[in-house]
Amino acid sequence: MSDVDDDHDDDDHDDRVRQATVGHGPLPDRCEIAIVGGGVVGLSIAYHLAKRGLTDVVVVERGYLAEGASGRNGGGVRQQWATEMNIRLMQDSVELCRRFAVELGVNVWFRQGGYLFLARSAKEVARLEKNIALQNRCGVPTKMIEPSAARDIVPELDLTGIVGASFNASDGILFPWPFLWGYARQAAVMGVKIFTNTAVTGLDPVASGGYTLHTSRGALTARRVINATGAWSPQLAKLVGIDLPTYPIRHEICSSEPLKPFLRPMVCEMASGLYCSQSMRGEIVGGVTIPGHGSTYDMGSTLEFLATYARRLVRLMPVLGDIKVLRQWAGPYDQSPDGNPILGPASPAHPDFFLASGFVGHGFMMAPIIGKLYADWLTGETPHEIFERSSLGRFADGSGARHAKEDFNLG
Ligand SMILES: Cc1cc2nc3c(=O)[nH]c(=O)nc-3n(C[C@H](O)[C@H](O)[C@H](O)COP(=O)(O)OP(=O)(O)OC[C@H]3O[C@@H](n4cnc5c(N)ncnc54)[C@H](O)[C@@H]3O)c2cc1C
Repeated sequence: MSDVDDDHDDDDHDDRVRQATVGHGPLPDRCEIAIVGGGVVGLSIAYHLAKRGLTDVVVVERGYLAEGASGRNGGGVRQQWATEMNIRLMQDSVELCRRFAVELGVNVWFRQGGYLFLARSAKEVARLEKNIALQNRCGVPTKMIEPSAARDIVPELDLTGIVGASFNASDGILFPWPFLWGYARQAAVMGVKIFTNTAVTGLDPVASGGYTLHTSRGALTARRVINATGAWSPQLAKLVGIDLPTYPIRHEICSSEPLKPFLRPMVCEMASGLYCSQSMRGEIVGGVTIPGHGSTYDMGSTLEFLATYARRLVRLMPVLGDIKVLRQWAGPYDQSPDGNPILGPASPAHPDFFLASGFVGHGFMMAPIIGKLYADWLTGETPHEIFERSSLGRFADGSGARHAKEDFNLG
Protein backbone atom coordinates (compact mmCIF):
# COMPACT_ATOMS: atom_id res chain seq x y z
CA MET A 1 0.00 0.00 0.00
CA SER A 2 1.32 3.48 -0.85
CA ASP A 3 1.92 6.31 1.59
CA VAL A 4 -1.02 8.12 -0.03
CA ASP A 5 -3.36 5.21 0.75
CA ASP A 6 -2.02 5.15 4.28
CA ASP A 7 -2.85 8.83 4.59
CA HIS A 8 -6.39 8.19 3.30
CA ASP A 9 -6.83 5.35 5.78
CA ASP A 10 -5.76 7.67 8.58
CA ASP A 11 -8.18 10.36 7.36
CA ASP A 12 -11.06 7.84 7.16
CA HIS A 13 -10.23 6.62 10.63
CA ASP A 14 -10.10 10.14 12.05
CA ASP A 15 -13.37 11.05 10.32
CA ARG A 16 -15.11 8.02 11.77
CA VAL A 17 -13.87 8.85 15.23
CA ARG A 18 -14.88 12.50 14.90
CA GLN A 19 -18.33 11.66 13.50
CA ALA A 20 -18.89 9.08 16.18
CA THR A 21 -17.71 11.05 19.16
CA VAL A 22 -18.78 14.64 18.69
CA GLY A 23 -22.43 13.91 18.26
CA HIS A 24 -22.94 14.96 14.63
CA GLY A 25 -25.83 13.60 12.62
CA PRO A 26 -29.14 12.08 13.57
CA LEU A 27 -29.60 9.36 16.16
CA PRO A 28 -30.30 5.93 14.70
CA ASP A 29 -33.94 4.78 15.10
CA ARG A 30 -32.99 1.75 17.10
CA CYS A 31 -30.12 -0.16 18.60
CA GLU A 32 -29.51 -3.25 20.71
CA ILE A 33 -28.03 -1.45 23.71
CA ALA A 34 -28.29 2.22 24.66
CA ILE A 35 -25.89 3.40 27.34
CA VAL A 36 -26.92 6.64 29.00
CA GLY A 37 -23.90 8.52 30.37
CA GLY A 38 -20.53 9.07 28.71
CA GLY A 39 -18.40 8.80 31.84
CA VAL A 40 -15.78 6.14 32.41
CA VAL A 41 -18.34 3.51 33.42
CA GLY A 42 -20.55 3.90 30.33
CA LEU A 43 -17.60 4.13 27.97
CA SER A 44 -15.84 1.12 29.47
CA ILE A 45 -18.97 -0.98 29.00
CA ALA A 46 -19.33 0.31 25.42
CA TYR A 47 -15.71 -0.49 24.57
CA HIS A 48 -15.85 -4.00 26.03
CA LEU A 49 -19.18 -4.75 24.32
CA ALA A 50 -17.69 -3.75 20.98
CA LYS A 51 -14.55 -5.73 21.67
CA ARG A 52 -16.73 -8.80 22.16
CA GLY A 53 -18.47 -8.11 18.84
CA LEU A 54 -21.63 -6.36 20.03
CA THR A 55 -21.33 -3.05 18.18
CA ASP A 56 -25.00 -2.13 17.79
CA VAL A 57 -24.53 0.17 20.77
CA VAL A 58 -25.30 3.87 21.22
CA VAL A 59 -23.84 6.00 24.02
CA VAL A 60 -25.85 9.12 24.82
CA GLU A 61 -24.09 11.82 26.86
CA ARG A 62 -25.85 15.00 27.95
CA GLY A 63 -22.70 17.14 27.95
CA TYR A 64 -19.16 16.31 26.89
CA LEU A 65 -17.12 13.22 27.71
CA ALA A 66 -15.56 13.78 31.15
CA GLU A 67 -18.26 16.27 32.15
CA GLY A 68 -19.20 14.30 35.28
CA ALA A 69 -17.14 12.74 38.07
CA SER A 70 -14.93 10.96 35.54
CA GLY A 71 -13.35 14.24 34.46
CA ARG A 72 -12.94 15.53 38.00
CA ASN A 73 -11.33 12.79 40.05
CA GLY A 74 -7.96 12.04 41.61
CA GLY A 75 -7.04 9.10 39.38
CA GLY A 76 -6.15 6.76 42.26
CA VAL A 77 -6.12 3.01 41.58
CA ARG A 78 -5.56 0.65 44.51
CA GLN A 79 -5.87 -2.97 45.51
CA GLN A 80 -5.89 -2.27 49.26
CA TRP A 81 -9.47 -3.26 49.99
CA ALA A 82 -11.12 -5.22 52.79
CA THR A 83 -13.16 -7.84 50.95
CA GLU A 84 -11.87 -10.62 48.76
CA MET A 85 -14.30 -9.63 46.03
CA ASN A 86 -13.03 -6.05 45.78
CA ILE A 87 -9.37 -7.06 46.10
CA ARG A 88 -9.66 -9.57 43.26
CA LEU A 89 -11.66 -7.20 41.06
CA MET A 90 -9.07 -4.50 41.60
CA GLN A 91 -6.21 -6.88 40.80
CA ASP A 92 -7.87 -7.39 37.41
CA SER A 93 -8.55 -3.67 37.01
CA VAL A 94 -4.89 -2.82 37.66
CA GLU A 95 -3.90 -5.34 35.01
CA LEU A 96 -6.30 -3.68 32.55
CA CYS A 97 -4.83 -0.26 33.43
CA ARG A 98 -1.32 -1.60 32.83
CA ARG A 99 -2.30 -2.78 29.35
CA PHE A 100 -4.48 0.23 28.49
CA ALA A 101 -1.91 2.33 26.62
CA VAL A 102 -0.79 -0.54 24.41
CA GLU A 103 -4.26 -1.95 23.81
CA LEU A 104 -6.06 1.34 23.18
CA GLY A 105 -3.23 3.47 21.84
CA VAL A 106 -3.49 6.31 24.36
CA ASN A 107 -1.00 7.26 27.03
CA VAL A 108 -2.98 7.43 30.28
CA TRP A 109 0.10 8.18 32.36
CA PHE A 110 -0.51 5.16 34.58
CA ARG A 111 2.25 5.06 37.17
CA GLN A 112 2.57 2.38 39.87
CA GLY A 113 4.17 4.32 42.70
CA GLY A 114 2.11 2.57 45.39
CA TYR A 115 -0.47 3.65 47.97
CA LEU A 116 0.68 4.54 51.47
CA PHE A 117 -2.03 4.49 54.17
CA LEU A 118 -1.08 6.25 57.42
CA ALA A 119 -2.66 5.31 60.76
CA ARG A 120 -2.87 7.61 63.78
CA SER A 121 -4.47 5.12 66.24
CA ALA A 122 -4.15 1.51 67.35
CA LYS A 123 -7.65 0.90 66.00
CA GLU A 124 -6.60 2.02 62.53
CA VAL A 125 -3.47 -0.15 62.72
CA ALA A 126 -5.61 -3.17 63.62
CA ARG A 127 -7.87 -2.44 60.68
CA LEU A 128 -4.95 -2.20 58.29
CA GLU A 129 -3.42 -5.44 59.64
CA LYS A 130 -6.67 -7.34 59.16
CA ASN A 131 -6.99 -6.06 55.60
CA ILE A 132 -3.35 -6.80 54.77
CA ALA A 133 -3.74 -10.43 55.85
CA LEU A 134 -6.59 -10.80 53.37
CA GLN A 135 -4.80 -8.86 50.64
CA ASN A 136 -1.71 -11.07 51.04
CA ARG A 137 -3.87 -14.21 50.80
CA CYS A 138 -5.16 -12.86 47.49
CA GLY A 139 -1.63 -12.23 46.25
CA VAL A 140 -1.45 -8.45 46.78
CA PRO A 141 1.97 -7.78 48.36
CA THR A 142 0.84 -5.08 50.83
CA LYS A 143 3.11 -4.69 53.88
CA MET A 144 2.50 -3.27 57.34
CA ILE A 145 5.40 -0.92 58.00
CA GLU A 146 6.76 1.18 60.87
CA PRO A 147 6.42 4.97 60.63
CA SER A 148 10.17 5.21 60.01
CA ALA A 149 9.81 2.94 56.98
CA ALA A 150 7.00 5.20 55.71
CA ARG A 151 9.54 8.02 55.83
CA ASP A 152 11.95 5.95 53.78
CA ILE A 153 9.26 5.96 51.07
CA VAL A 154 8.30 9.63 51.56
CA PRO A 155 11.17 11.44 53.35
CA GLU A 156 9.10 14.66 53.54
CA LEU A 157 6.58 13.14 56.02
CA ASP A 158 6.23 14.57 59.52
CA LEU A 159 5.69 11.42 61.59
CA THR A 160 4.30 13.13 64.69
CA GLY A 161 1.23 11.11 65.71
CA ILE A 162 1.67 8.44 63.00
CA VAL A 163 1.71 4.99 64.63
CA GLY A 164 1.75 2.66 61.62
CA ALA A 165 1.31 2.44 57.87
CA SER A 166 0.48 0.05 55.07
CA PHE A 167 2.14 0.13 51.68
CA ASN A 168 1.48 -1.68 48.44
CA ALA A 169 3.90 -0.81 45.66
CA SER A 170 1.68 -2.03 42.81
CA ASP A 171 -1.14 0.48 43.44
CA GLY A 172 -0.97 3.60 41.32
CA ILE A 173 -2.40 6.71 39.75
CA LEU A 174 -3.48 7.65 36.23
CA PHE A 175 -4.60 10.71 34.31
CA PRO A 176 -8.38 10.29 33.88
CA TRP A 177 -9.17 12.22 30.70
CA PRO A 178 -7.21 10.17 28.15
CA PHE A 179 -8.73 7.07 29.68
CA LEU A 180 -12.15 8.29 28.50
CA TRP A 181 -10.85 9.37 25.11
CA GLY A 182 -9.20 5.98 24.64
CA TYR A 183 -12.37 4.05 25.40
CA ALA A 184 -14.51 6.41 23.27
CA ARG A 185 -12.18 6.35 20.29
CA GLN A 186 -11.71 2.61 20.16
CA ALA A 187 -15.41 1.91 20.79
CA ALA A 188 -16.24 4.30 17.93
CA VAL A 189 -13.72 2.71 15.60
CA MET A 190 -15.38 -0.66 16.24
CA GLY A 191 -18.82 0.78 15.39
CA VAL A 192 -20.31 2.15 18.61
CA LYS A 193 -22.09 5.49 18.10
CA ILE A 194 -21.41 8.11 20.73
CA PHE A 195 -23.55 11.25 20.90
CA THR A 196 -22.43 14.09 23.13
CA ASN A 197 -24.64 17.11 23.93
CA THR A 198 -27.60 14.72 23.90
CA ALA A 199 -29.72 14.49 27.03
CA VAL A 200 -32.20 11.71 27.74
CA THR A 201 -35.41 13.33 28.93
CA GLY A 202 -37.90 10.45 28.82
CA LEU A 203 -38.06 6.65 28.67
CA ASP A 204 -41.14 4.77 27.45
CA PRO A 205 -41.33 0.99 27.77
CA VAL A 206 -41.90 -0.91 24.51
CA ALA A 207 -44.43 -3.76 24.66
CA SER A 208 -42.07 -6.27 23.02
CA GLY A 209 -39.21 -5.33 25.38
CA GLY A 210 -36.81 -2.44 25.76
CA TYR A 211 -37.44 1.28 25.80
CA THR A 212 -37.83 4.29 23.58
CA LEU A 213 -35.45 6.98 24.77
CA HIS A 214 -36.58 10.56 24.19
CA THR A 215 -33.56 12.77 23.81
CA SER A 216 -32.72 16.34 22.88
CA ARG A 217 -31.65 14.90 19.50
CA GLY A 218 -34.78 12.80 18.82
CA ALA A 219 -36.05 9.35 19.75
CA LEU A 220 -34.18 6.07 19.84
CA THR A 221 -35.54 2.62 20.65
CA ALA A 222 -33.19 0.23 22.42
CA ARG A 223 -33.69 -3.43 23.32
CA ARG A 224 -31.73 -2.82 26.53
CA VAL A 225 -30.81 0.39 28.37
CA ILE A 226 -27.89 0.84 30.78
CA ASN A 227 -28.08 3.64 33.32
CA ALA A 228 -24.49 4.87 33.63
CA THR A 229 -25.32 8.43 34.60
CA GLY A 230 -23.27 8.43 37.80
CA ALA A 231 -24.60 10.82 40.41
CA TRP A 232 -27.60 11.54 38.17
CA SER A 233 -28.64 7.85 38.17
CA PRO A 234 -31.65 8.39 40.46
CA GLN A 235 -33.03 10.98 38.01
CA LEU A 236 -32.76 8.63 35.03
CA ALA A 237 -34.13 5.68 37.02
CA LYS A 238 -37.11 7.82 38.03
CA LEU A 239 -38.06 8.06 34.34
CA VAL A 240 -38.94 4.35 34.43
CA GLY A 241 -40.49 4.55 37.89
CA ILE A 242 -37.57 3.21 39.92
CA ASP A 243 -36.38 4.82 43.15
CA LEU A 244 -32.63 4.44 43.57
CA PRO A 245 -31.19 4.90 47.05
CA THR A 246 -28.07 6.69 45.76
CA TYR A 247 -27.54 10.43 46.25
CA PRO A 248 -24.98 13.04 45.14
CA ILE A 249 -22.30 14.21 47.56
CA ARG A 250 -19.93 17.01 46.57
CA HIS A 251 -16.29 16.02 46.82
CA GLU A 252 -13.70 18.78 46.48
CA ILE A 253 -10.16 18.45 45.19
CA CYS A 254 -7.34 20.76 44.11
CA SER A 255 -4.10 20.87 42.23
CA SER A 256 -0.91 22.81 42.97
CA GLU A 257 1.69 24.44 40.81
CA PRO A 258 4.05 21.85 39.27
CA LEU A 259 6.98 20.80 41.46
CA LYS A 260 10.07 18.78 40.74
CA PRO A 261 9.05 15.08 41.07
CA PHE A 262 9.55 13.87 44.65
CA LEU A 263 6.38 11.99 45.70
CA ARG A 264 5.96 8.51 44.27
CA PRO A 265 2.98 7.00 46.11
CA MET A 266 -0.54 8.19 46.74
CA VAL A 267 -0.48 9.14 50.45
CA CYS A 268 -3.70 8.68 52.45
CA GLU A 269 -4.37 9.57 56.06
CA MET A 270 -7.05 7.24 57.37
CA ALA A 271 -8.68 9.41 60.03
CA SER A 272 -9.14 12.61 58.01
CA GLY A 273 -9.55 11.11 54.56
CA LEU A 274 -6.68 13.32 53.35
CA TYR A 275 -5.06 12.03 50.16
CA CYS A 276 -2.49 13.45 47.80
CA SER A 277 -0.30 12.31 44.96
CA GLN A 278 2.03 13.97 42.49
CA SER A 279 0.94 13.89 38.88
CA MET A 280 3.33 13.17 36.04
CA ARG A 281 3.25 16.91 35.37
CA GLY A 282 4.49 17.60 38.90
CA GLU A 283 1.29 18.97 40.47
CA ILE A 284 0.26 17.85 43.94
CA VAL A 285 -3.33 16.68 43.46
CA GLY A 286 -5.36 15.93 46.56
CA GLY A 287 -8.43 16.28 48.69
CA VAL A 288 -9.88 15.68 52.11
CA THR A 289 -13.26 14.62 53.46
CA ILE A 290 -15.45 17.57 54.50
CA PRO A 291 -18.42 16.00 56.26
CA GLY A 292 -21.75 17.50 56.99
CA HIS A 293 -22.85 19.28 53.80
CA GLY A 294 -25.53 16.78 52.90
CA SER A 295 -26.63 15.73 49.46
CA THR A 296 -26.24 18.29 46.69
CA TYR A 297 -25.63 18.74 42.98
CA ASP A 298 -23.87 22.03 43.75
CA MET A 299 -20.33 21.61 42.44
CA GLY A 300 -19.00 24.92 43.70
CA SER A 301 -15.67 25.19 45.51
CA THR A 302 -15.36 26.30 49.12
CA LEU A 303 -12.82 28.11 51.24
CA GLU A 304 -13.61 25.62 54.02
CA PHE A 305 -12.21 22.81 51.86
CA LEU A 306 -9.09 24.74 50.92
CA ALA A 307 -8.33 25.72 54.53
CA THR A 308 -8.94 22.18 55.87
CA TYR A 309 -6.90 20.54 53.10
CA ALA A 310 -4.02 23.01 53.48
CA ARG A 311 -3.90 22.53 57.28
CA ARG A 312 -3.92 18.74 57.07
CA LEU A 313 -1.49 18.55 54.15
CA VAL A 314 1.04 20.87 55.76
CA ARG A 315 0.78 19.02 59.09
CA LEU A 316 1.71 15.84 57.22
CA MET A 317 4.29 17.36 54.85
CA PRO A 318 5.48 20.70 56.21
CA VAL A 319 7.71 21.13 53.15
CA LEU A 320 4.52 21.85 51.14
CA GLY A 321 3.71 24.92 53.26
CA ASP A 322 4.74 27.43 50.59
CA ILE A 323 3.29 25.86 47.44
CA LYS A 324 0.58 27.60 45.47
CA VAL A 325 -2.77 26.06 44.63
CA LEU A 326 -3.47 26.65 40.96
CA ARG A 327 -6.86 25.04 40.55
CA GLN A 328 -9.68 23.94 42.81
CA TRP A 329 -12.78 22.09 41.69
CA ALA A 330 -15.42 19.61 42.83
CA GLY A 331 -17.29 16.62 41.49
CA PRO A 332 -20.18 14.44 42.57
CA TYR A 333 -19.74 11.17 44.43
CA ASP A 334 -22.63 8.87 43.48
CA GLN A 335 -23.13 7.75 47.08
CA SER A 336 -24.85 4.43 47.75
CA PRO A 337 -26.06 3.56 51.25
CA ASP A 338 -23.42 0.83 51.76
CA GLY A 339 -20.64 2.42 49.69
CA ASN A 340 -20.78 -0.28 47.01
CA PRO A 341 -22.01 -0.12 43.40
CA ILE A 342 -25.48 -1.09 42.23
CA LEU A 343 -25.38 -3.35 39.18
CA GLY A 344 -27.63 -5.54 37.05
CA PRO A 345 -31.29 -5.26 36.03
CA ALA A 346 -33.18 -2.77 38.17
CA SER A 347 -35.88 -5.27 39.15
CA PRO A 348 -37.68 -8.37 37.84
CA ALA A 349 -40.28 -5.99 36.42
CA HIS A 350 -37.54 -4.03 34.60
CA PRO A 351 -35.36 -6.76 33.08
CA ASP A 352 -34.19 -4.49 30.23
CA PHE A 353 -33.16 -1.53 32.40
CA PHE A 354 -29.67 -2.15 33.77
CA LEU A 355 -27.89 -0.21 36.50
CA ALA A 356 -24.22 0.77 36.72
CA SER A 357 -24.43 3.23 39.59
CA GLY A 358 -23.31 3.95 43.14
CA PHE A 359 -19.55 3.93 42.62
CA VAL A 360 -18.95 6.61 45.30
CA GLY A 361 -15.23 7.57 45.29
CA HIS A 362 -13.84 4.53 43.51
CA GLY A 363 -15.70 4.25 40.20
CA PHE A 364 -12.75 5.18 38.07
CA MET A 365 -10.55 2.37 39.33
CA MET A 366 -13.41 -0.12 39.11
CA ALA A 367 -14.67 0.88 35.65
CA PRO A 368 -12.15 -1.16 33.63
CA ILE A 369 -13.09 -4.48 35.22
CA ILE A 370 -16.80 -3.73 35.71
CA GLY A 371 -17.09 -2.70 32.05
CA LYS A 372 -15.46 -5.94 30.98
CA LEU A 373 -17.61 -8.14 33.24
CA TYR A 374 -20.78 -6.33 32.17
CA ALA A 375 -19.91 -6.89 28.51
CA ASP A 376 -19.10 -10.56 29.15
CA TRP A 377 -22.51 -11.03 30.70
CA LEU A 378 -24.51 -9.07 28.10
CA THR A 379 -22.88 -11.06 25.32
CA GLY A 380 -23.85 -14.41 26.77
CA GLU A 381 -21.42 -15.43 29.51
CA THR A 382 -22.52 -16.47 32.99
CA PRO A 383 -22.72 -13.30 35.10
CA HIS A 384 -19.86 -12.78 37.55
CA GLU A 385 -20.93 -13.05 41.20
CA ILE A 386 -20.41 -9.30 41.68
CA PHE A 387 -23.73 -8.76 39.89
CA GLU A 388 -25.74 -10.76 42.40
CA ARG A 389 -23.92 -9.17 45.32
CA SER A 390 -24.47 -5.69 43.89
CA SER A 391 -28.15 -5.96 42.98
CA LEU A 392 -30.54 -3.17 43.89
CA GLY A 393 -32.53 -5.80 45.77
CA ARG A 394 -29.87 -6.05 48.50
CA PHE A 395 -31.25 -2.93 50.14
CA ALA A 396 -34.63 -4.61 50.53
CA ASP A 397 -33.27 -7.89 51.98
CA GLY A 398 -30.70 -6.29 54.34
CA SER A 399 -27.52 -7.72 52.79
CA GLY A 400 -26.47 -4.17 51.81
CA ALA A 401 -25.89 -3.29 55.45
CA ARG A 402 -23.64 -6.35 55.85
CA HIS A 403 -21.49 -5.32 52.87
CA ALA A 404 -21.05 -1.83 54.30
CA LYS A 405 -19.39 -3.24 57.41
CA GLU A 406 -17.01 -5.41 55.40
CA ASP A 407 -15.70 -2.96 52.87
CA PHE A 408 -12.89 -0.48 53.08
CA ASN A 409 -14.15 2.58 51.35
CA LEU A 410 -11.41 5.05 52.10
CA GLY A 411 -9.66 6.97 49.38
C1 LIG B 1 -13.16 14.80 43.45
C2 LIG B 1 -13.29 13.32 43.13
C3 LIG B 1 -12.19 12.49 43.33
C4 LIG B 1 -12.30 11.12 43.01
N1 LIG B 1 -11.17 10.32 43.11
C5 LIG B 1 -11.24 9.05 42.65
C6 LIG B 1 -10.07 8.24 42.62
O1 LIG B 1 -8.97 8.67 43.00
N2 LIG B 1 -10.19 6.96 42.14
C7 LIG B 1 -11.38 6.46 41.69
O2 LIG B 1 -11.43 5.31 41.29
N3 LIG B 1 -12.49 7.22 41.72
C8 LIG B 1 -12.46 8.49 42.17
N4 LIG B 1 -13.59 9.25 42.17
C9 LIG B 1 -14.86 8.64 41.76
C10 LIG B 1 -14.96 8.50 40.25
O3 LIG B 1 -14.60 9.71 39.61
C11 LIG B 1 -16.39 8.11 39.89
O4 LIG B 1 -16.80 7.00 40.67
C12 LIG B 1 -16.50 7.72 38.41
O5 LIG B 1 -15.92 8.70 37.60
C13 LIG B 1 -17.96 7.53 38.06
O6 LIG B 1 -18.06 7.37 36.67
P1 LIG B 1 -19.48 7.33 35.99
O7 LIG B 1 -19.25 7.05 34.56
O8 LIG B 1 -20.37 6.42 36.77
O9 LIG B 1 -20.11 8.78 36.24
P2 LIG B 1 -19.80 10.20 35.54
O10 LIG B 1 -18.39 10.33 35.16
O11 LIG B 1 -20.37 11.24 36.45
O12 LIG B 1 -20.62 10.12 34.20
C14 LIG B 1 -22.02 10.18 34.17
C15 LIG B 1 -22.40 10.99 32.92
O13 LIG B 1 -23.81 10.90 32.72
C16 LIG B 1 -24.22 12.10 32.10
N5 LIG B 1 -25.67 12.23 32.26
C17 LIG B 1 -26.36 12.45 33.40
N6 LIG B 1 -27.68 12.50 33.15
C18 LIG B 1 -27.83 12.29 31.81
C19 LIG B 1 -28.97 12.23 30.96
N7 LIG B 1 -30.22 12.39 31.41
N8 LIG B 1 -28.75 12.01 29.64
C20 LIG B 1 -27.50 11.84 29.14
N9 LIG B 1 -26.39 11.88 29.93
C21 LIG B 1 -26.56 12.12 31.24
C22 LIG B 1 -23.41 13.18 32.82
O14 LIG B 1 -23.30 14.35 32.05
C23 LIG B 1 -22.06 12.47 33.03
O15 LIG B 1 -21.10 12.81 32.05
C24 LIG B 1 -13.53 10.60 42.52
C25 LIG B 1 -14.62 11.44 42.36
C26 LIG B 1 -14.51 12.80 42.65
C27 LIG B 1 -15.70 13.67 42.44
